[in-house]
Amino acid sequence: MHCDVLVIGAGAAGLMTAITAANFGHKVLLVDHANKPGKKILMSGGGRCNFTNYYVEPDRFLSQNPHFCKSALSRYTQWDFIQLVDKHGIGYHEKELGQLFCDGKAKAILEMLLDELASAGAQLHMNCSISQILASENGYQVNSTLGKISANKLVVATGGLSIPTLGATGFGYEIAEKFGHTLQPTRAGLVPFTFSDQHKALFASLSGSSIDAVASVGDTSFRGGVLFTHRGLSGPAILQISSYWEAGDVLTLNLLPDIDAAQWLTSLRTEAPKKQLKTLLVNHWTKAITEAFDGIFDLSRTLATLSNEDINQLAKSLNEWPLRPSGTEGYRTAEVTLGGVNVDEVSSKSLESKHQPGLYFVGEVLDVTGHLGGFNFQWAWASAVACATAIHTQ
Ligand code: FAD
Repeated sequence: MHCDVLVIGAGAAGLMTAITAANFGHKVLLVDHANKPGKKILMSGGGRCNFTNYYVEPDRFLSQNPHFCKSALSRYTQWDFIQLVDKHGIGYHEKELGQLFCDGKAKAILEMLLDELASAGAQLHMNCSISQILASENGYQVNSTLGKISANKLVVATGGLSIPTLGATGFGYEIAEKFGHTLQPTRAGLVPFTFSDQHKALFASLSGSSIDAVASVGDTSFRGGVLFTHRGLSGPAILQISSYWEAGDVLTLNLLPDIDAAQWLTSLRTEAPKKQLKTLLVNHWTKAITEAFDGIFDLSRTLATLSNEDINQLAKSLNEWPLRPSGTEGYRTAEVTLGGVNVDEVSSKSLESKHQPGLYFVGEVLDVTGHLGGFNFQWAWASAVACATAIHTQ
C-alpha cells in the first residue's frame, strides 16, 4: 500500500491533518490502533466538547519554548474552526471565559470531522497497529497489521499519555526518540490533586461541595471553582493550577478571593464584637463547608476574643491557606500531558522534524499544553493545518 501522507493517530490533530492534506489533493492514509476514532473528542467538555475559545493567545499555552505555538495558532485561528462548525450547522454557546461548547453532544464535532474526512477522500483504518517504521530513500516504510505501507511523509499525531483507556500510548515519543529527538519530561496536567495528610479526611467529608477560590502555585494563580473530592481537590481552578504544580510544591488557596481578610476582620471586631466567625463566614461559604472548616480554623470564636495576632494568623489562613498535595490523580484522569517532543527540534512553521526530513509531529505529542478552556483542541486543529499546509507547499 502506498500513500503520499501517512498520519498515525486518528484523534483531533490526526483527523484535521488528514482532512487538510486530502483537501489539497494528497493521497492520505490515517491509521489508529484503537477501535474508534476521536475518543477524546467524545469525552471532552463533559460530553459537549469545548472545541475552542474566543480568546486564544500564546500565553494560554505551556511549553519549554513559549514562542513555538505562535506561528500555527496565528495561521489557523479559533475563527477558522468556528467557521467550519457553522458550515456544519452545529449549535454552540459560550459557557464562560470565551469557552465554546456544543449545544448538543460532542459527537457532532466528531461527525463533522469524519464527514470532512470522507469528502476530502482520505482513507481511515482503525485497529491498525504499527510494528516498525523505517526511513527510506523516498520517505518511510511502515510495517503494520494492515500490511506494509510506504509513505512519502509521516505525521505523528498519537497524542500524550493521558487516559490510557481511551487509547493513549507513548508511541509518538518512541518514534521521536528513534529519529534522534529529545523529549521534555512528561507529567499529568489538568488533573485533580490527591492528599494523604490530615486534609484528606476533611476534603472527603465535603466531597461534592465546591467553593469559589483562587488557587496558586508560586506566582501563578487561577480563580474559579474548587471542588472537594474523596481523595482531594478538583474543579476548574485546581485543574488549571495543576499544570503549574510539581511534586513537593505548596498549593495555596485564597478562600475569600474578594476580601482582604485582615482588614475585614479588624473592622468587624469593632462593629460586631459578639459575632462568631462562623456566622460571618457562612455568608461566603455553604453551611457544610463552614462547619467542616471550624475544626481547622476554630471558627466558634467570637470576634471580640481575637487579638491582632490572632486576626493576622486567621486572615493569612483564609487568604493564603497553604496545602501540600501528595500527588495528582495521574494519567488515569488527566486531561492532558505536559512535556513531550522537544519543540526546539521541530519547525514551528511546518511542524517538520529538524532531524528527519518528511517526519512531522502535531497536537499533544509535542511539548505544547493549553490551559483548560478549549485551548488544547485549538492547538490540535492549528498544528494540524500548519503541518498539512507545509506538506502541500514544500
Ligand atoms: P488524541 O486526541 O489523544 O489522539 C491520539 C490518537 O492516537 C488516539 O486516537 C489514539 O488511539 C492514537 N494512538 C495512540 N497511540 C497509538 C499507537 N501506538 N498506534 C496507533 N494509534 C495510536 N481539550 C479541549 O480543548 N477541550 C475540551 O473540552 C477537552 N476535554 C477533555 C476531556 C478529557 C476527558 C480529556 C482526556 C481531554 C480533554 N481535552 C480537551 C484535551 C484534548 O482532548 C487533547 O488535548 C486532544 O485530544 C489532543 O489531540 P491529539 O490528536 O494530539 O491526541
